[in-house]
Amino acid sequence: PCESGNSMPWFGMDIGGTLCKLVYFEPKYITKDEADAEVETLKNIRQYLTKNSAYGKTGHRDAHLQMDDVCIRGRRGTLHFIRFPTSEMGNFLALAKSKGMANLVTTVCATGGGAYKFEENFKKEVNLSLAKFDELDSLIRGMLYIEMTNPCECYYWTNPTDDEKCQKMPYDFSKPYPFLLVNIGSGVSILAVQGPNDYRRISGTSLGGGTFLGLCCLLTGCNTFEEAIELATSGDSTRVDKLVKDIYGGGYSRFGLPGDLVASSFGQMNSKDRRNTVTKEDLARATLVTITNNIGSITRMCALNEKIERVVFVGNFLRVNPISMKLLASAMDYWSKGTLKALFLEHEGYFGAVGCLLQFTG
Ligand code: ADP
Repeated sequence: PCESGNSMPWFGMDIGGTLCKLVYFEPKYITKDEADAEVETLKNIRQYLTKNSAYGKTGHRDAHLQMDDVCIRGRRGTLHFIRFPTSEMGNFLALAKSKGMANLVTTVCATGGGAYKFEENFKKEVNLSLAKFDELDSLIRGMLYIEMTNPCECYYWTNPTDDEKCQKMPYDFSKPYPFLLVNIGSGVSILAVQGPNDYRRISGTSLGGGTFLGLCCLLTGCNTFEEAIELATSGDSTRVDKLVKDIYGGGYSRFGLPGDLVASSFGQMNSKDRRNTVTKEDLARATLVTITNNIGSITRMCALNEKIERVVFVGNFLRVNPISMKLLASAMDYWSKGTLKALFLEHEGYFGAVGCLLQFTG
């Protein structure tokens, strides 16, 4: 029997600066009472969410991330992962209303800044109350839950500097503490996690995924993250950046700096001739490398300060972005002489949404 506060549907929403992440729990078995009580609207919503993989022009369900047969609050079911741009919130609310959401008296668990910004809109437009949760609490809780539930959630990259040999390998994260959690969303937050309920936000930077996308759109005229990553994939950042060897003719051996190291990001672009020879692809790659290396170097300093050796990178900046993952992996390895380990998680951007779904107790 379902307690009133636990009545379906179960959603968790993380309304971020760029993307809104929606996690939906679809129960496997519905009790007879529930089936009888399940109003038509609810059935329609369940079918709409689970049968489609695109919602309107901008919503997507990440079917490859779907988790079947998970247990939440004693119920078995499937977790579905859906995202859309936060800028489409108006359309999302209109869609929710057209599907009859407003007729269901429900509470939706929500986190992220948008849980505050859009709270009134949810109430007025779809008659939904938001149960708000802190985004960093949710992030950690969701991440620990998914990592425990999915046996192949956590991985690392072997030989990250060698494209031929580089491989994704499963990592046993069953004894997680302590670790650094670096969330690369629009901006970046760095947390030191000592235990399930013991963490501090130790640092952050405003130069994050939003910066990459914003600068890339400005410099190349691209319009989407996917496009920006595609451009970067075929570009060469060394035509944009000034390397140690561009200054020294070789390495700066006295201090162990190899010739191929970036000395100055975008450092060639003061020359008009150089500007005339670089491509959009090169500029996209340089932007990606600049932002990623900056996050990597802030992370290293944090790890050193906190004396923590394992770093878990999450957030949607890493979506379809192996270039940045490999760069972070090799930067952690190189600068720490092998003591720091960069780890990654399959559900990279969804932990906040999962965590707030888990925290809801009705
Ligand atoms: P936030 O909660 O701040 O929105 P996310 O973890 O969702 O943060 O990450 C947002 C970042 O992810 C963007 O700044 C961009 O770099 C990257 N990203 C990945 N996929 C997309 C997408 N489809 N649209 C926009 N940004 C995307």
